[in-house]
Amino acid sequence: MASLLRSPLPCGLNLTASTSDHEAFAGFSASSVRALKISNSPLILRRPRNAYLRILRSNEKRVYVTEASEEPFGLSQEIIDSEQRFAERDTVLDPFKELEYRFLDFKRRNYVENLVNYQNLAQQQAPKFMVVACADSRVCPTSILGFQPGEAFTVRNVANLVPPFEHGASETNAALEFAVNSLEVPNILVIGHSRCGGIQALMSMKENAESRSFIRDWVSVGKSARLSTKAAAGGQSFEMQCRHCEKESINGSLLNLLTYPWIEKRVTEGALALHGGYYDFVNCNFEKWTLVYRKGLEGGSKYAIKDRCLWS
Ligand SMILES: [Zn+2]
Repeated sequence: MASLLRSPLPCGLNLTASTSDHEAFAGFSASSVRALKISNSPLILRRPRNAYLRILRSNEKRVYVTEASEEPFGLSQEIIDSEQRFAERDTVLDPFKELEYRFLDFKRRNYVENLVNYQNLAQQQAPKFMVVACADSRVCPTSILGFQPGEAFTVRNVANLVPPFEHGASETNAALEFAVNSLEVPNILVIGHSRCGGIQALMSMKENAESRSFIRDWVSVGKSARLSTKAAAGGQSFEMQCRHCEKESINGSLLNLLTYPWIEKRVTEGALALHGGYYDFVNCNFEKWTLVYRKGLEGGSKYAIKDRCLWS
């Protein structure tokens, strides 16, 4: 039997119900339901126009709290059903069960609570950033910079490299083409990081090596960064050379971005800005800078770094 407690909510609807109340809820089909009456209870729950039920699980006795929100009623029931299914399973360590739980938690805590935003994103996207980051599992841009869905169009590859235009098609420049020409992102951010295995592969690469590998072929995109690192820090330890190259390769990628005519055009017009970022996960800080490009500048350098800052 359902046991009910009632307390005020801003929307005028609040219900605390035990697990057994699920059957009561399940009995309603209803986008058209305007009021709910729980079996054997005098309490009638009136649903405000365009409001739906949101289910939050508490920590005790699998009690559920419902309150009004802007979500489809059916979605709430779907979450209840999913949680029940999950609760009934053994707690055997299974990475996909963990992912299932995380997804349902995202659905309940994020998707449902921001339903209007997600409905808008289902129609279109207008990200502020195109992000190029390393595939390294420790360097998730969304985690460290808090990007929300729709904010960052992202491509990740080994060592966060951008090949030059003449390199030909790759998934990285395909993503860049879409982000710049179709989405018209105003910012491209290339994020490098500490202890990058791709950069270590680049720095330890043997010249004229006979053996081939996809990694070797790919990281050779950063050859110019390797050369400048050898020139500037060749006397230092391999670790320090790699650290130097991790940042040098970011600037190499920023310069390579300008070899794409459609990127160079938008940068010149002031419609697109190019930024570098370096995430040091050993000390947990983030360095950020912006590349300034002056087309047709006579004498001196066409390029400069500005707005360098350290977030620590
Ligand atoms: Zn890396």
